[in-house]
Amino acid sequence: MKLISAYTSHANDQQALLVFHHYHSNPNLIAWNSILKSLSSHNKWTQTLHYFNTLLLLDSSISPDEYTFTSVLKACAGLLVTKKGEKTHGMVLRRGHHSNLFIMNSLVDMYFKFRQVRVARLLFDEMCVKDVVSWNTLISGYCSTGDVIGARELFDVMVERSIVSWSAMIAGYTHSGDLDKARDLFDKMPERNVICWNAMIAGYAQNERYSDAIRLFREMQRPVESGRILTPNDVTLVCVLSACAHLGALDLGKWVHGFIKRKKMELNLFLGNALCDMYAKSGCIAEAKEIFHRMIHKDVVSWSIIISGLAMHGKAKEALVCFSDMRSMGINPNDITFLGVLSACTHAGLVEDGIRYFDLMCLEFEIPPKVEHYGCMVDLLSRAGRLEEAEGMIQTMKVAPNVVVWGALLGGCRIHSDIDRGQRVVERILELDPEHPGSYVYLYNAYSSAGRLEDAAACRLKMRSRQVVKTPACSWIEVNTTVYEFFMGDRSHPRIEQILEATRELSGKLRVVGYRPDTSVVSQSIDEEEKENALSMHSEKLAFAFGLISTSEGTLIRIVKNLRVCNDCHDWMKLASTAVNREIILRDRSRFHHFKDGSCSCNDYW
Ligand code: ZN
Ligand code: ZN
Repeated sequence: MKLISAYTSHANDQQALLVFHHYHSNPNLIAWNSILKSLSSHNKWTQTLHYFNTLLLLDSSISPDEYTFTSVLKACAGLLVTKKGEKTHGMVLRRGHHSNLFIMNSLVDMYFKFRQVRVARLLFDEMCVKDVVSWNTLISGYCSTGDVIGARELFDVMVERSIVSWSAMIAGYTHSGDLDKARDLFDKMPERNVICWNAMIAGYAQNERYSDAIRLFREMQRPVESGRILTPNDVTLVCVLSACAHLGALDLGKWVHGFIKRKKMELNLFLGNALCDMYAKSGCIAEAKEIFHRMIHKDVVSWSIIISGLAMHGKAKEALVCFSDMRSMGINPNDITFLGVLSACTHAGLVEDGIRYFDLMCLEFEIPPKVEHYGCMVDLLSRAGRLEEAEGMIQTMKVAPNVVVWGALLGGCRIHSDIDRGQRVVERILELDPEHPGSYVYLYNAYSSAGRLEDAAACRLKMRSRQVVKTPACSWIEVNTTVYEFFMGDRSHPRIEQILEATRELSGKLRVVGYRPDTSVVSQSIDEEEKENALSMHSEKLAFAFGLISTSEGTLIRIVKNLRVCNDCHDWMKLASTAVNREIILRDRSRFHHFKDGSCSCNDYW
């Protein structure tokens, strides 16, 4: 028996099962309960129910007790088997366990999982004894069904709140996106453990408030009144690493890596994946590869991270080799893996390979392509000038094409000067997004260069009347482990005057070596001088200028941008890398640009 529980607590249910079968030709209730607990706590719910049924069939002299039922009810809840759950509930009543606290708590939890809120509440109200677990179950239950207000009402009337109650309420708010209320509670907590911090940090990360996640993590590192510092666990670090990955906050990411090493933490699957992803997305593909190779267990997520990472860095051949390694290890790719593979092909212009992998995905692995996969394929075909095929693919898509897919075809029409098709595509795009800024700019430029000045003028009028708005462009740069955020035209930074001065000065220098502002990317409704000013306020230029004045000479500058880098900024960065002798790594929406000595790693193909 001791052996079974030992294996149970060491997360090895296979061993526990082996011992169970070996030693017990005639198991007693304690043995049965040990094995049921082991299975249910490892989420082996089908097996839990199987063993429970065997127990009932084999030995009618054994009468299941509270330990048996809590495991079984948990399995019913996990599998969402309503009939079996209700049957077990009946058994509980017949055997007179209806006043047992543990069983009642499990029942309340089960009915919430079944989404039978009314039944759960009725059971709770009828309980003669309730403990803090009962209340917490109710609060988590209401939160899980999206009724945060109901949960809060209960929370407010609770006599005794545990840390779990607070954490459940905080998680409820963060899941519904109400971070202010979550933070308000978090700040009011009388005491906090690592789980509470994790709930709040994860809440920020899941709601894409990455800077806030990082700020809170820093606060966690500050000693509390007793002088004690809370040690983050792997859940905390995974959240922080994901925030770092999104913001390209490499210094902090490296600090986390150092922390893992110092504390001799095991590089488990989740932590390894998060670390690898952080390095890959922060422009350090060599470090990402190192982590990847050091991980003992790798799953399809790990392989997908490294394949997409290599693709983003323009290492298409390596990404494809990785893909075949993965398959020879017997790991099946999923839709995300294929997205990495296809984007590798797109970034490198490998048309035939792309088509082959697309077919492999659809036909052999029977993975239905999503709109993102089509986006890659249409992009690939369009750039290669196979516009007919690209348009054909859109017409036969199994999901509705979005603006990105049509936009990829439009890009091809621009490169290969196919005005007729371009016009058709623009119509489609404007049906989906009447404000789509790129379409008007495309049409205007296409008409102008074809000498169709009347059409061009009409297009310009339309643009003005529609007041085209875009997603605000935003760039991040990390200086001394703090992440700074710049929006396009943003003047909120305290050193904005110095930043603008640095941009002006640099643009002047660049003009001497041949920089010509590409004003075609700016909205057509403003005059030339304003256009140039608007260009110099692009978020990546602001971030770069800030990096320039706040880091020492020769320091590599890393910037992350949420949208695609524009032609003008791309040219500007290339020239700037020589003029001020700095290497620049800029990650945009889909790939890395490594600017060095006047050229970019993407070979102007992005
Ligand atoms: Zn720009
Ligand atoms: Zn580039």
